Amino acid sequence: MSANPNIASEGGPEPSASQSAARMRTGEDYLRSLNDGRAVFLEGEKVRDVTKHPAFAAAARSAARLFDIAADPAMSDRMTFRSPTSGKRVLRAYQIPRTHVDLRAKRLASEAWSEVSFGMMGRTPDHVSNFFCGFAAVPEVFAAGGKEFGERVVAFHEKLRENHLWATYAIVPPQIDRSKPAHRQSDPTLYAGVVKERDGGIVISGAQQLATAGLYSDYLYLSCIHPLQAGDENHAIGVAIPINAPGLKLYPRRPFALQASSTFDYPLSSRFDESDCFVVLDNVFVPWEEVFIYRNIEICRDQWWKTPSHLYGNLQAQARYATKLRFMIGLAARMNEMTGNASLPPVMVQMGELAALVSIVEKMLEAQETLATVDSNGVLWPSREALYSVMALQSEINPRMVEIIRELTGSAMITLPSSIKDLESPLTAPDIERYMPSSATSARDRIQLMRLAWDFVGSEFGNRHHQYEKFYGGASFIVKQNMLRSYDMKRATGLVDKALALG
Ligand SMILES: Cc1cc2nc3c(=O)[nH]c(=O)nc-3n(C[C@H](O)[C@H](O)[C@H](O)COP(=O)(O)OP(=O)(O)OC[C@H]3O[C@@H](n4cnc5c(N)ncnc54)[C@H](O)[C@@H]3O)c2cc1C
Repeated sequence: MSANPNIASEGGPEPSASQSAARMRTGEDYLRSLNDGRAVFLEGEKVRDVTKHPAFAAAARSAARLFDIAADPAMSDRMTFRSPTSGKRVLRAYQIPRTHVDLRAKRLASEAWSEVSFGMMGRTPDHVSNFFCGFAAVPEVFAAGGKEFGERVVAFHEKLRENHLWATYAIVPPQIDRSKPAHRQSDPTLYAGVVKERDGGIVISGAQQLATAGLYSDYLYLSCIHPLQAGDENHAIGVAIPINAPGLKLYPRRPFALQASSTFDYPLSSRFDESDCFVVLDNVFVPWEEVFIYRNIEICRDQWWKTPSHLYGNLQAQARYATKLRFMIGLAARMNEMTGNASLPPVMVQMGELAALVSIVEKMLEAQETLATVDSNGVLWPSREALYSVMALQSEINPRMVEIIRELTGSAMITLPSSIKDLESPLTAPDIERYMPSSATSARDRIQLMRLAWDFVGSEFGNRHHQYEKFYGGASFIVKQNMLRSYDMKRATGLVDKALALG
């Protein structure tokens, strides 16, 4: 049994009556907390309140639903577990798995959340939470820089967990000049890093990318997953920063909700644009309690690979992706029904290929769980091979699947009226109702489905997703290298040696 109390499984102390009654964070609590002075900049201006701004309000409400689902007593077993330290119900996203049952339960909780956005929101509160589960499961990695760093990472995981908080991260340096290391940029404070020590903590300046959902979250984890080299020590940090910390600025890319003229015409863009934020830090103070890595290149690297953080975080990402692919094939099936093509043999072959690709992702999730191993702290590590094999191919299978959808639909996503207003105007509605139905449905139902499909694959939102699936887990050349490192090559070359030994 681990000495780390946070690693206890479901057990933990029996809760007192007040602890059991301690309330989960609701969607309303969450929305209220977002109006905290956070510095989000759009079109040259500071956004006053992200919950009211047309670019962000709808996605904030979608995120709030996640908290409502977790707070729903009927979902308690699925979405929460009993805190090992306080005994109160807390998000499963913060559970450090000790058994295969725990790991599966965490995946099922992520699946429930992913279905809210049909897999369109990737950095929901269960993504970076899982990185912190991995960090807190092996605090020894952080303690290599001093005992206090290990203690702080465990305490911060507990803080996030006990307060139902949402962390996002920015762990990639900006693309200013990748031919040079961080410390040899034209100005060594361009990439986020420590610029000085101050009483009680450190001061950080510079930029880092790309905090997806950053503007919707409570905390930013700032660190670096790109290789660093001697001289880059100031950039070899791991710190947590409240999103409204003075000096922390978020620059979201163009929000798609602004172009979404109606929920009918843009059913996904209008609701689930989680945003991707470029992060600028202007002399941001971080107290020592929230500094987990300080000027240490080795620990900065080891946090990802010598803890199960990358495995937990990406298991969640794959659970979300599997939901999205189920939605994708469901969409294709409905479109085929509508066009009357569903039973054409070539269409069935293409649907079979889609089904095969979706199943690979779904079943590899189960493989990550069933092949998970237990470490000396009694903590489960999902199978690296099962995760990285599917992640490594994601940047190829995703475009293939989108291509099949495009092939199956022909012009069906294009030969549509300009907006829902054409269905409402007496000037245009009669033509549309007469000439745009399918054999099985009214014009309105057909147009609604085809707009959904277009928003999924063709709109600006759909195209951002294309890029997201390619890069959210790192460029594919890196993931493939991870896979190669994880693969049992000894067994493979052993077979060849055996064959050679036959003479
Ligand atoms: C939509 C989206 C959301 C994201 N969300 C997050 C997030 O929440 N948090 C976060 O921290 N990051 C996030 N990222 C960033 C993501 O982690 C990076 O995009 C990813 O790590 C790749 O880094 P890069 O974009 O700098 O690409 P680069 O490293 O510049 O690579 C781009 C391409 O250049 C080529 N290339 C570059 N270097 C090499 C090399 N050494 N060998 C061979 N080829 C090379 C490859 O073709 C590669 O695909 C997100 C990215 C996207 C697109």
